Amino acid sequence: MPKGHHYGRTQTRAYTTEYHRIHANVFKPLLTTPLGSYSISSEFLSDNHRKLILKENENGVRYVIFTINEKPHQIALKRDNRSASNKLYITCPYCHKQRQSLYAIKYAYGCRQCIGLHYASQSERPNERLMRRIRKLRKELWGYDWPDVNNMFEQVAYWPKPKWMRWKTFEQKRNKITELEKQYWPMAVAQMDTMFGKHFISEHQN
Ligand SMILES: [Zn+2]
Repeated sequence: MPKGHHYGRTQTRAYTTEYHRIHANVFKPLLTTPLGSYSISSEFLSDNHRKLILKENENGVRYVIFTINEKPHQIALKRDNRSASNKLYITCPYCHKQRQSLYAIKYAYGCRQCIGLHYASQSERPNERLMRRIRKLRKELWGYDWPDVNNMFEQVAYWPKPKWMRWKTFEQKRNKITELEKQYWPMAVAQMDTMFGKHFISEHQN
């Protein structure tokens, strides 16, 4: 593998490519224009992501306010006076760090890092949660070493009773897992549909 190449899943990268990015340079004209209402001309942005109000604080720092989903999103326009280029940075409404660009997501503007964190915490879909629960209950009954303990394509109906367990207890626990497995599959198939399309599913059933 050549150096500098990264394979596998990188949450941040995977998500940010889906969103429109606005670069700090977009705001450059606003450093010298009169304060007031403006609109970014971009066909990729929603109305809420386009309309802004330009203001200035008592220290002479200019900032813009977007009203997205009825909430204000404040982005400061900051020149880096340390460098000769006078590069313009915009601050992320969430972490307030200076960024070269921000991403437009459905109800916000945010930097790559904040969006990455946001989606990392939300990316576990209900069927994934259910799968985790099923695997956990299976391990409680059959142990971590059981060959198919993580295999969702194997169902537990015929798995053996652990020697030390009473039949009644075992059946209760196993039936609970079977019940969850029944809930799991329609959810998993629905998700595969949205990820790969119906075509993928029917192809694999044949
Ligand atoms: Zn941020």
